[in-house]
Amino acid sequence: MKEHIYTIPIREAMAENSPCPICKIYEKEERNLIEYTLGPSMMEPDSREESNKTGFCSYHLDKLLNFGSGKLSMALMLSTHFDEVLKDLGTLAKKTPHPVTGVLKKKSPGIDISSLEKRFSRCVMCKKMEKVSVNCVDTLIYMWKDQSDFRKEAEASRGFCNKHLVSLINHAPHKLNEEECRIFISKLLKIQAENANKDKENLLGFIDQFDYQKRQENSGDYSSALSDVVTRLQGKEI
Ligand SMILES: [Zn+2]
Ligand SMILES: [Zn+2]
Repeated sequence: MKEHIYTIPIREAMAENSPCPICKIYEKEERNLIEYTLGPSMMEPDSREESNKTGFCSYHLDKLLNFGSGKLSMALMLSTHFDEVLKDLGTLAKKTPHPVTGVLKKKSPGIDISSLEKRFSRCVMCKKMEKVSVNCVDTLIYMWKDQSDFRKEAEASRGFCNKHLVSLINHAPHKLNEEECRIFISKLLKIQAENANKDKENLLGFIDQFDYQKRQENSGDYSSALSDVVTRLQGKEI
């Protein structure tokens, strides 16, 4: 089934013991998407038409610009996207703005710029990555429901980032019956609380490494404690 294409990647990401298996897949898929956007999609008329219309958000412009290669592709894509922006600006330039004041004394620019706002608020890459997130979340819930070995693995895992925890809880009622949903959410919260406690302990261990006395007493490896907590707090969803 199409919605379960992430079954194997989820198992692999879970085995890697990262702070969030969904973020791990997201990162990999995002890299593939950047490569595709700066490569093959350049030659696909449908993709070009879409990127011409929507352009890219600030986050993805940064990702594309700093990818290391594909600068020519990026410049070509943006030049044709600019044609669309210029069309909008040309249309708006023909309308003379009349700043007006409403009954509540709130000033309005007197020109409808919704076409511009709409164009600047969309991103062809965000749209594709949203689908990745939803597919991962749905697949994970499906695996939890249908595969008892995966359930055990998930319960012993490091949990999820804050964003994907919220997505899993919000999607659960659409994929599980009432009883399954109740059990799933309570297990999820338990896993998350256990891991939040571990994160806190690791952070304290990391802090101790800055104190000579405590560093002698506590020689554990806390090198990834801070970056793991940041990953969990950030999440990879836009
Ligand atoms: Zn995540
Ligand atoms: Zn974006």
